[in-house]
Amino acid sequence: MDFEISERIQVVLEMINEFVDKELIPLEPEFLNHEFVEMLPVLQEKRQMVKKMELWAPNQPKELGGMGLDLVEHGLVSEALGRTPLGHYILGCQAPDAGNCEILHMHGTDEQKETYLKPLVEGKIRSCFCMTEVDMPGSNPVMLETTAVKDGSDYIINGHKWYSTAADGAKFAIVMAVTNPDAPSYLQASMIIVPTDTPGFNHVRNIPIMGHAGSDYASHGEILFQSCRVPQKNLLGNEGHGFVIAQERLGPGRIHHCMRWLGICKRAFDLMCKRANERKVLPDGRTLGTRQIVRSWIAESAARIQAARLMTLHAAWKIEKVGAKAARYDIAFIKFTVANTMLKVVDSALQVHGGLGMTDDTILSYFYRHERAARIYDGADEVHKMSVSKKILNAYREHGDFRF
Ligand SMILES: Cc1cc2nc3c(=O)[nH]c(=O)nc-3n(C[C@H](O)[C@H](O)[C@H](O)COP(=O)(O)OP(=O)(O)OC[C@H]3O[C@@H](n4cnc5c(N)ncnc54)[C@H](O)[C@@H]3O)c2cc1C
Repeated sequence: MDFEISERIQVVLEMINEFVDKELIPLEPEFLNHEFVEMLPVLQEKRQMVKKMELWAPNQPKELGGMGLDLVEHGLVSEALGRTPLGHYILGCQAPDAGNCEILHMHGTDEQKETYLKPLVEGKIRSCFCMTEVDMPGSNPVMLETTAVKDGSDYIINGHKWYSTAADGAKFAIVMAVTNPDAPSYLQASMIIVPTDTPGFNHVRNIPIMGHAGSDYASHGEILFQSCRVPQKNLLGNEGHGFVIAQERLGPGRIHHCMRWLGICKRAFDLMCKRANERKVLPDGRTLGTRQIVRSWIAESAARIQAARLMTLHAAWKIEKVGAKAARYDIAFIKFTVANTMLKVVDSALQVHGGLGMTDDTILSYFYRHERAARIYDGADEVHKMSVSKKILNAYREHGDFRF
């Protein structure tokens, strides 16, 4: 295993870190105090700068106009970008568009690629992914109520989705709906492209989350599909293969998330250490950083970050060497380990900032509110733990051992 960073990626990371420090972090006060939609003009300017610097769409193949980075390389980029909530959006590698691009690239028809993939990669349009339903458990995604029933050359879609990230202002949705109710549960659903201006695609609201409903890209929508009619040519991949396709991109998607969370860890850790060194808490001028308990938080945070980072890089390396299926335990381990590491580090950093940590004068309160979701989306902690522990116990029963 070799985690050495090539000279080319080293240069890219330096460019990105400098760009984040000089161009994006200074925008955060505006981001924290205004609606995302109001910031679009300035964000567009920053996107143009990125394109000129040839840093656009790091995870997309070169033939689509991206940088063509591999999983470990993009993971490192994702970490650098994760230091600010604006990073991924500005470089055109934000969820859920990044995943939707991957799906369209691998499974789209030529027409779908021309109509949806091309403008999506170029950042001219946005998309959303509608799988989770209001009345069904997202933790068991094969339990879906949304249906797509054939009628002539169309599908008619009915269902009630929510948590469709960035649906507000999206041009199209990739919708998971049951097309084959009589098939085995894993083969019942399909992915279907639905332009958001189709009659029957009803954006009910941006869901208020931790006190804020957000807008445009920075929002999560509730969507009601009411006799929403789309042509059958909008089917993405094979009918009944919705979960097969979703499964394919889960591994890489989790590496991207975990590396972004490690970027958040780094930012919170930077703020914690600076504050500990500067904040005077004793009459003789001694700082918070002289207190044993704060030093303990710093040491523990540093060790946790390092452990989580190595675990994630190892999982990315393993996916590249032997594929996502063989690395499935590693992927599950990092999902709950890194999410909890991030929340612990953010919490310690906030605590070190005292009252200031609770304000929106630093980015910590934003991370604290919005990143709590990391333990829920992409598989809640408990679901990953249940699944890996069951397989580990089976391995011991059947072979007397479990190989990491
Ligand atoms: C910020 C955010 C963004 C999201 N973006 C999207 C998106 O773009 N598109 C989309 O389709 N969805 C999205 N989701 C939805 C997300 O995928 C679901 O919330 C998640 O899958 C959990 O499903 P649920 O909310 O229905 O919880 P439930 O399935 O009801 O589970 C609730 C809780 O029960 C526990 N639990 C569940 N199953 C088990 C089990 N087998 N064993 C033990 N405990 C269990 C877990 O603690 C879990 O947190 C997003 C969610 C969030 C918070």
